[in-house]
Amino acid sequence: MLDVKRLTKKYNKVKAIDDVSFFIPDGQVGVIMGPNGSGKSTTIKSIAGLLRYTGEVSIQGFENRSIEAKKVFGYVPELPTMFPLLTVREHIIYTLKAYGLPIDEEKIEYLLDTFELKDKENKLGDELSKGMMQKVSICCALIIEPKVLMLDEPMIGLDPKAIRELKKMILELRDKGVTILISTHMLEMVEGLWDTIVILKNGKVMGQFDKDMAEGKNLEEIFFKVTGDEDV
Ligand code: ADP
Ligand code: MG
Repeated sequence: MLDVKRLTKKYNKVKAIDDVSFFIPDGQVGVIMGPNGSGKSTTIKSIAGLLRYTGEVSIQGFENRSIEAKKVFGYVPELPTMFPLLTVREHIIYTLKAYGLPIDEEKIEYLLDTFELKDKENKLGDELSKGMMQKVSICCALIIEPKVLMLDEPMIGLDPKAIRELKKMILELRDKGVTILISTHMLEMVEGLWDTIVILKNGKVMGQFDKDMAEGKNLEEIFFKVTGDEDV
């Protein structure tokens, strides 16, 4: 469960997001959709507790910056960063150790196989392409079996096989009750994946729609109806 209330973030004097509120229940995929610069990354980074902001965020009922919240959420940033001298496998092990979780070789193998990283498992962080870093970052978020998973533009830079696997995994996690938040500016990336959608424009929420309210409309129709423009 993810509850965001009146989130406002200023960079210097400029408001990047303004009074953003939304709720995503357990077992649902929420999408934040908006054009470039609309405040998607700022929203997700604030929820992850990486920025100063005003407003309230609770993750599974815990204040987002509490240790209880940190134990249960996974975050895949828009721009993955690696430890240059850790291997792919070591990134995953490091994450498990940081969370005080046991090293589960079977789970590690499964993720490495799924994202086609098995033959790259001994490559160092600074030897990886952007797409591989993205995959490692996704593996690190998944290995902790989060209750809330946030992915900032996760499909960018991924190959078609990895996109397919990620979508499959998102739906499996959803069915296990995990709360998922995905940001994207590309409508087609989340077609068939979303339960609720938050539409952002210029840092403000233009509306939130549940799949049940969509009345058979596709995402594109909803998006243009709400934003009233055609420039995305
Ligand atoms: P999105 O992820 O939807 O593309 P962002 O959250 O990255 O949007 O950006 C929202 C607004 O905040 C944009 O106008 C952007 O220029 C501004 N912004 C983002 N990061 C910074 C920063 N570190 N310093 C100043 N302005 C920023
Ligand atoms: Mg962004």
